[in-house]
Amino acid sequence: SLSEKLDKALHVLKGHGQITEINVAETTKEVRRALLDADVNFKIAKEFTNRVKEKALGQNVLKTLQPGQLMVKIVKDELTELMGGDASGINLSGSPSVILMSGLQGSGKTTFSGKLANYLKKKKSKNPLLVACDVYRPAAIDQLHVVGDQIGVPVFSDRENQDPVSLAKAGVAHAKANGHNVVIIDTAGRLAVDEQMMTEIANIRDAVSPQETLFVVDSMTGQDAVNTAKAFNDVLDFDGVILTKLDGDTRGGAAISIKSVVNKPIKFIGTGEKMEAIDVFYPARMADRILGMGDVVSLVERAQEQFDEEEARKLQKKIAKNKFGFDDFLKQIQQIKKMGNMKDLMGMIPGAGKALKGLDIEDDAFKHVEAIIYSMTPEERSNPTTLNASRKKRIAKGSGRSIQEVNQLLKQFNQMSKMMKMMQGGGGKKMMQMMQN
Ligand code: GDP
Ligand code: MG
Repeated sequence: SLSEKLDKALHVLKGHGQITEINVAETTKEVRRALLDADVNFKIAKEFTNRVKEKALGQNVLKTLQPGQLMVKIVKDELTELMGGDASGINLSGSPSVILMSGLQGSGKTTFSGKLANYLKKKKSKNPLLVACDVYRPAAIDQLHVVGDQIGVPVFSDRENQDPVSLAKAGVAHAKANGHNVVIIDTAGRLAVDEQMMTEIANIRDAVSPQETLFVVDSMTGQDAVNTAKAFNDVLDFDGVILTKLDGDTRGGAAISIKSVVNKPIKFIGTGEKMEAIDVFYPARMADRILGMGDVVSLVERAQEQFDEEEARKLQKKIAKNKFGFDDFLKQIQQIKKMGNMKDLMGMIPGAGKALKGLDIEDDAFKHVEAIIYSMTPEERSNPTTLNASRKKRIAKGSGRSIQEVNQLLKQFNQMSKMMKMMQGGGGKKMMQMMQN
């Protein structure tokens, strides 16, 4: 899926402690590929990734502590923009306001007509009327009546009238005569795009001049949804899109493509069969969903939870006083372990990322490191300089590791302490250079 692909693209960054121009390029390339795979228009995908790249390099991503996080944010912001930026409202300026539903059979027009009527009644204190213009299937008229009864909204229908155009007009007239300020016209669809359906819906539109002509589309139909949207838009030049069936696992890749191809706002989404399952479409939320941000965001949250500022301050003091020892090292390791997902998180540890990277860390690689540290006495832990050859031998024996491994750990530790001191003492620039190698 698109979200998996984007996840993968962003994953490239998650493992990096810093972003270089090279991995910005690498990531944006992956993002672009993911968009192309989802049938987003080539030009749009290219523009999209160019904007992401520009922003990433422009915002000095190189200097932030959590470049991956910032990169995700940039991608998310751009994706939000691509899907329409702000939520766009529904035009209710008419008296009555006429809202016309269009879309294929089974896309969810009748259900959405009911949901929208319910929403406008409850949230906007409107007095809507539903109009049944699906004249081909008697069951369709029954269905709208069931929906209307459920939400307490009257339904205008005329089983004698087989002409949807005059039915729609009669419905609007009925609304005017009965004080309804909103008219929602439910129409017939077909299983596939055909001339007759298009002509019919266009005729209804011309007859009642709706404030809103909405195109309803099943988000589970993927690329077909995009083609259908284009076909309807070519004929109707509709005002907005309704994405239905966004409940369950559907992640909404269609939203990007549709918005890109027809350039009309997505106004609402349907998230279930119940009348309450309607939401205003918020591009930012959809971007979250598409990015599978659950993942990324919680990762970031976990990292922030664990590395709380208090701890960080304490650590800084110790480093400043030259008192950073193996106990602190151990504490860091334990914090890292609490967060899980080792490799992804390496880059998020300020300063430590590079030093630990040398250990070629696997999730259980810490076991050995911990064993070695546990075999040290408290004094040895806080004063690692006291570790002479015989002490090292004892530690190796106690932990069941080799002398080489003990030496290796000491080397890493010293390297890390050095780096941390450098970070403290105005050596930030030098530090950055080191980290970028
Ligand atoms: P229409 O032919 O365009 O009028 O489509 P319907 O409103 O009759 O909907 C077709 C089917 O999709 C029905 O079984 C609805 O219950 C179902 N449906 C509509 N909207 C949603 C939605 O947002 N989520 C889910 N899960 N089902 C929906
Ligand atoms: Mg229907």
